[in-house]
Amino acid sequence: MRVGRLAAQRHEKTESAPKERQILAPKVSPGFKRKEATRSASAMVFVLAGLLPLLSLTACARSNSAEPPKETPASLAAGSVPDAAEVSADPGSPPSFNADRAMQYTREVTAFGARPIGSANHKKLEQYIYAHLKGDLVQDDLFTADTPEGKFPVRNIIAKFPGTQDGIIVIAGHYDTNYPLRETGYVGANDGGSSTALLLELANQLRGKKRDGYSVWLLWTDGEEAVRQWSSTDSLYGTRHLAEVWQQDGTLKKIKAFLLEDMIGDADLDIQRDQNSTPWLEDLVYQAATRLGYQSHFFAVTLGIDDDHLPFVQHGVPCADLIDLDYGYNNVFHHTAQDTLDKLSPKSLDIAGRVILETVALLDAKK
Ligand code: ZN
Repeated sequence: MRVGRLAAQRHEKTESAPKERQILAPKVSPGFKRKEATRSASAMVFVLAGLLPLLSLTACARSNSAEPPKETPASLAAGSVPDAAEVSADPGSPPSFNADRAMQYTREVTAFGARPIGSANHKKLEQYIYAHLKGDLVQDDLFTADTPEGKFPVRNIIAKFPGTQDGIIVIAGHYDTNYPLRETGYVGANDGGSSTALLLELANQLRGKKRDGYSVWLLWTDGEEAVRQWSSTDSLYGTRHLAEVWQQDGTLKKIKAFLLEDMIGDADLDIQRDQNSTPWLEDLVYQAATRLGYQSHFFAVTLGIDDDHLPFVQHGVPCADLIDLDYGYNNVFHHTAQDTLDKLSPKSLDIAGRVILETVALLDAKK
């Protein structure tokens, strides 16, 4: 079924921009072990399922019914709203993806325990990510976020895979875990773990190949979670900052598409269509899913979702948020200590990974 319409929430800009710096991934080994606990935080998700009942869900992403969306697609330097004919170009052979390896990454990331901003585990995870990007072109965006719980270092990590076409496709997912739940045994296998791992496997697929298409930048976002209660100022710390940095340095107008993945490891994968995302790009994602035979996992329900794409939506960048906010019936595992590995499936990581790569191929081909 297809559903209702919700509006994007406005988010204010944050503090100004610490410098990005070009670095090479340090060599660190993935070691670790730990466990920080959690308690509960939440953000509401209003599911406007046409005439379905309103569900409220705890979420790292949340939906809302604020004011009308302020997207300005016309202003997209990234421009290019394709018509149907354009996107039917043949993107070539189906993408490859190693789901078992992605699942293993999820397992290792989750084994760190809770990974909220400012924690020792978070630091270990940063090192783990860098260790898997050895030899890649890696950049970070490190700054101090001023939050209701104090000041924290926040670090977005970007791995760049250059292409021959002029323009950038960003594939993003957050690696921090819920802050308020940090001392409750929460490990964020799906919420934080799956997104981190999926990007690491995408890096494996992109590495060492000449890209005959747009440049692809993988973005591990940080500070996605609220530290106290989800609001426009307490959430999305990393992406609000990065959108400003990229606005100022001219990167933003080169971005053709921003594909966000979040909570895509759920064994019962059902990714909602997001009313705050860019319709033509979601259509393209659905086309990619259909080409691979995975369309039944996509867009049966429409939500208005607040997530890391919003700061980019608000700057006019075409965005698609791929998120399964039905994690357990009625989203009951989301932001609970039950967000554990046993709820996940490599098949779901495979579906998400391949659909993202196929979407990239369609974006390349429609040029
Ligand atoms: Zn979350």
